[in-house]
Amino acid sequence: MGSRAQDVVAQARAVVTEAAAYLGSNGDVDANQQAAYDLGHAAAVVEAAAAVVEYGEHGDVERRIADAFVAEAVHDVATRLLGREAAWGAEPGALDAAMPFVREHRSADFLASLSGLEGDRHLDDDFELVRDTFHRFAQDKVRPLAEHIHRDNADIPEEVIAGLAELGTFGLSIPEQYGGYSTGGDGELLAMVVATEELSWGSLGVGGSLITRPEILARAMAQGATEAQKQEWLPRLASGEVMAAVAVTEPDFGSDSGAITTTAVPDPGGDGWVINGVKTWCTFAGRADVLMLMARTDPDRSRAHRGVSMFLVPKPRAGGHSFAFDQPDGGRMEGRAIDTLGYRGMHSYEVSLDGWRVPADCLVGGAAGVGQGFYMQMASFDNGRLQTAARAIGVMQAAYEAARDYSSDRSVFGRALSDYELTKVKLARMAVVIQATRQFMYTVARLLARDTGEGVLEAAMVKAYACRSAEWVTREAMQLHGGMGYAEEYAVSRYFADARVLSIFEGAEELLALKVIARRLTGERPVVPPQRIRT
Ligand SMILES: Cc1cc2nc3c(=O)[nH]c(=O)nc-3n(C[C@H](O)[C@H](O)[C@H](O)COP(=O)(O)OP(=O)(O)OC[C@H]3O[C@@H](n4cnc5c(N)ncnc54)[C@H](O)[C@@H]3O)c2cc1C
Repeated sequence: MGSRAQDVVAQARAVVTEAAAYLGSNGDVDANQQAAYDLGHAAAVVEAAAAVVEYGEHGDVERRIADAFVAEAVHDVATRLLGREAAWGAEPGALDAAMPFVREHRSADFLASLSGLEGDRHLDDDFELVRDTFHRFAQDKVRPLAEHIHRDNADIPEEVIAGLAELGTFGLSIPEQYGGYSTGGDGELLAMVVATEELSWGSLGVGGSLITRPEILARAMAQGATEAQKQEWLPRLASGEVMAAVAVTEPDFGSDSGAITTTAVPDPGGDGWVINGVKTWCTFAGRADVLMLMARTDPDRSRAHRGVSMFLVPKPRAGGHSFAFDQPDGGRMEGRAIDTLGYRGMHSYEVSLDGWRVPADCLVGGAAGVGQGFYMQMASFDNGRLQTAARAIGVMQAAYEAARDYSSDRSVFGRALSDYELTKVKLARMAVVIQATRQFMYTVARLLARDTGEGVLEAAMVKAYACRSAEWVTREAMQLHGGMGYAEEYAVSRYFADARVLSIFEGAEELLALKVIARRLTGERPVVPPQRIRT
């Protein structure tokens, strides 16, 4: 017999599944965007709840954390459903059977009793060691720099990159045969997410996000590169000798990345390619040694994403907020950093390429890679989304700890802020959401590592849920700091600013909810069937 929490998750899942079937029979997702958007988010929180129920089997504290999260998840689904039952094809009161459980585990008494309980992560010893190593690096090398880099919009010092390279950070999910540290199996992606969370706990911009670009490029290459390209690039990516940036987004096409207009045409003066176009939001493009760049190789624009190929574009390194490079034969590449609210250190650039030449072997996949770039990019984004969830969890954990410590130090109306029921409930809910999201992330990492096409849906779910939660957790953490939460001298203001970007990049949450999650759940054709990748 299942636990009560399991039964409640099953009830919530049934509501979501029935709504998906109803929507699927009622036209496509775009015909019912609001319902599909809500459904996508509801499905994500329900699957997070399913993951945390398993975690609850570890012991009493874990079970209480799991119960609190399951109640939170039903509340989330219910608020999306309330008043929109008709659009979901659901009856009013569809979640009534879950209400006794929700009442019990959303009560202030129950939540306040959880305050101070964060729950063990229950990682194996090997991954605890990874965690410990990266936590210490984040504490000793990243945190001392984080404030300065954020406030002065400064560059990440080379010592941080070299230190991370020495720890093997950039090769965590690159297979051993290509110079990385991954030995395959279910745990293949776990070290990467554990390390990413800890580095992001140190700083989103200075720590956790450095690892994202090699992760995306390595995954894309694993899908589509020739053996010679893998041999040439992956060991250098794994060692940190080569740092990468991802150049997909263009001024007119972000979410709709299959419509990009940057072109690559065969070089009339050689056997390579000539690239023309403007990319934007290309994070780390200055310091990077190579751009993973998407360009249209088919002049027939009606072929949309089927006319896009992936290129490795080598470039010189540059520090600061702008760069310009000229090639002897007239090619030019220019970059200008876009000022941002947070996520500083790597800088995100607008990059223009004017007649920029690359050798023939820079086309990923060689001749077989022509027109395959979009599919490779999509495969790489699954890992990127999982990793972005890890980034969100690291930021949330940092914000939670700051709020926890501040509220025990701060006295209001003659009592420690942490003594008040409201504070206890806030801190408990934050810790519960963080642990649940983390456990969901571990589950997705194991699924995705199987490389069977499983976990793609869940990677979008955990990304959407973790990033949305990071906005709420950092907001609550800032709020608990009162006025000082708004002061730059307290790191919590940076966590709040940094968290805001997470729901925008690596798939804006609307896109994930509509085009990945809802489309799959309703049985509508996903944007890209995984088996489409040829090489
Ligand atoms: C700090 C930062 C760093 C970044 N780093 C990189 C990077 O390194 N490399 C890179 O290539 N890109 C990067 N990006 C770009 C990022 O991936 C895009 O911003 C994102 O994909 C959204 O694209 P867009 O900005 O063009 O927004 P748009 O696509 O114009 O979207 C605007 C709004 O419309 C919504 N929307 C879009 N389509 C639909 C629809 N069909 N129905 C309903 N709503 C819709 C979106 O969700 C969003 O809310 C970065 C962005 C930021 C802010």
